[in-house]
Amino acid sequence: MLADLHTHSRASDGALEPRELLLRAAAAGVDMLAITDHDTVAGIAALPEHLPGRTRLVPGVELSANWNNVCVHVVGLAIDTSAAQLHTGLQRQRIIRSERATQIAAKLEQAGFRGVRKVRPQPGSEYIGRPDFARYLVNSNQIKDSKTAFKKYLGRGKIGDVRHSWPDLQEAIGWIRSAGGIAVLAHPAKYKLSNLRLEELCKAFVADGGQALEVISGVQQPNLTERLARLANRYNLYASGGSDFHAPDQPWAELGRVQALPASCRPVWELW
Ligand code: AMP
Ligand code: MN
Ligand code: MN
Ligand code: MN
Repeated sequence: MLADLHTHSRASDGALEPRELLLRAAAAGVDMLAITDHDTVAGIAALPEHLPGRTRLVPGVELSANWNNVCVHVVGLAIDTSAAQLHTGLQRQRIIRSERATQIAAKLEQAGFRGVRKVRPQPGSEYIGRPDFARYLVNSNQIKDSKTAFKKYLGRGKIGDVRHSWPDLQEAIGWIRSAGGIAVLAHPAKYKLSNLRLEELCKAFVADGGQALEVISGVQQPNLTERLARLANRYNLYASGGSDFHAPDQPWAELGRVQALPASCRPVWELW
């Protein structure tokens, strides 16, 4: 069974329309695809009820949340995208993102960039985030590529990484649970936490109602996979895996390129 349970469409910062994403997943032999856009389910809502091909769609979302002043991402899987409490939560995320974008623009302006106040979401999308600023800076020839934009101005601790006011971890997990979904702690290694802090995060995540850990995120080293599998088992978490696909020109996160979960793990799809 090939499952890719973490992907992005144009509804957030991905390059493909949800429909194109499904077609590409089918071509890659994906049996189960979760579309998990940042803080929105608009992409899933835009899909027709009956989908062509063999790929099964798992409705998902990736929420930005705050744990001890660290921005963590919580993937929600098998959610009811029409649930009222989730809907209210996503509305709040939209407001936070809009205010945050104004702050990012002000910071980039301070750093000497022009026109950044004009940055808007991709057409047809309600997500606005740092990738939109990176794209603008590249397209307006103020920075050579997106990688440099993040490395110098938008990445962790840089001027455009403004202090966030995301909902607390517990609240974000609550929105997912209220929509009947499973909360997955996304890409645990990306937060650059010490072993001890990552364990604390897992403990809090479980206490707040989280049920799974993303043991596989894109292409990763075997020793990381082993470490995360041990972590999942220690905290009784189910295991998930996804490519975190955004665009076809990023071979390190290709759709359907998801390593198998270690045999010691319980796959998250046993829960639905
Ligand atoms: P935001 O939603 O504004 O917090 O932006 C986070 C998104 O920016 C992530 O989901 C990635 O898609 C992208 N991103 C984060 N760091 C980098 C990076 N170093 N290089 C390129 N893209 C990045
Ligand atoms: Mn992204
Ligand atoms: Mn993420
Ligand atoms: Mn993601």
